[in-house]
Amino acid sequence: MSPRRSCGRPRSVSTPVDEFELIRRYFDRGDPGTGVAVGIGDDGAVLVPTPGLEQVQVIDTLVEGVHFPGATAPEDIGYRAVAVNLSDIAAMGAVPRWMTLALTLKPVDEAWVEAFAAGLFEAASEFGVVLVGGDTTSGRSVVATVHISGEVEAGRALLRSGAQPGDSVFVSGTFGDAAGSLALVSRGDNDVELSRRFCRPSPRLAIGRQLVGLASAAIDVSDGLLGDLRKLLEASGVGAQIDVDKVPLSAALRARFDADEQRRLALTGGDDYELCFTGAEEALAGLDGVTAIGRITAAAGLECRLDGAIVDVDDSGYRHFQ
Ligand code: ADP
Ligand code: MG
Repeated sequence: MSPRRSCGRPRSVSTPVDEFELIRRYFDRGDPGTGVAVGIGDDGAVLVPTPGLEQVQVIDTLVEGVHFPGATAPEDIGYRAVAVNLSDIAAMGAVPRWMTLALTLKPVDEAWVEAFAAGLFEAASEFGVVLVGGDTTSGRSVVATVHISGEVEAGRALLRSGAQPGDSVFVSGTFGDAAGSLALVSRGDNDVELSRRFCRPSPRLAIGRQLVGLASAAIDVSDGLLGDLRKLLEASGVGAQIDVDKVPLSAALRARFDADEQRRLALTGGDDYELCFTGAEEALAGLDGVTAIGRITAAAGLECRLDGAIVDVDDSGYRHFQ
């Protein structure tokens, strides 16, 4: 839906370019891309799925002031809007193909849109996904919703529900960096490396593809490692024991926070966009960029161990069980 003109109402004189011109200038790159019979410009996109593959559909919304601070650079918002969706595609073991964008803008600032589009297309070309349509509206705050379609071999998508007792629990990358960056900003401080991890998440698409046929279950970690691991455990009807000291931490996080804070950020902070997955140790341990952090148990519940003792982790930190 576009609210730009109702019947007979004159176009606003304060808007320097109209919605069509904005789309033409910044979002319609002319090249429709592979598998696109009809791209931007008609009422809908017409896509050509690869025979024999299934489709994975994901969507994520970024709201100004909720998912990113108002002062975030528009390039980063554009990049991030694509990257957070690609992280879900990665967790399903799929290959990203096509995306649509629903963008709500405050009174149009063309320089903002140009920079947002630059970030969006940077992520799109880096990870091989094509923008095939969208919707552009105006509102009181910026809202960017990206929808991505991916493809995966029939019956092979990675699910949250397949973890088995005896499987190892693995993660990609490092944890707590993005949450650490936000914690520093709230204290009036900044760290370039940590803030890059917030603004430019690295969707683990290559790892996700390698997991197809090897991992028993997988989930994208966006809301905190322990919380998202619990979702996987519930979906699989199992429990897990995690060795807190094995959760990988970046040098940048270690340099900025004490040991307790590092662990709290890594285990409960959000915006990591890493993968957590399960499977046979022998099958998965050799993959690049992954770390084993624990084991799946038949008994329900998530047990965290530190220095041999069971610890209780919540948002306020660590308590050793009495
Ligand atoms: P309609 O009124 O039929 O919904 P629109 O004016 O909203 O058409 O959009 C015209 C064309 O531009 C459509 O092909 C739509 O998919 C595309 N489009 C609109 N906004 C965007 C955007 N932000 N990014 C990419 N394509 C867009
Ligand atoms: Mg529309």
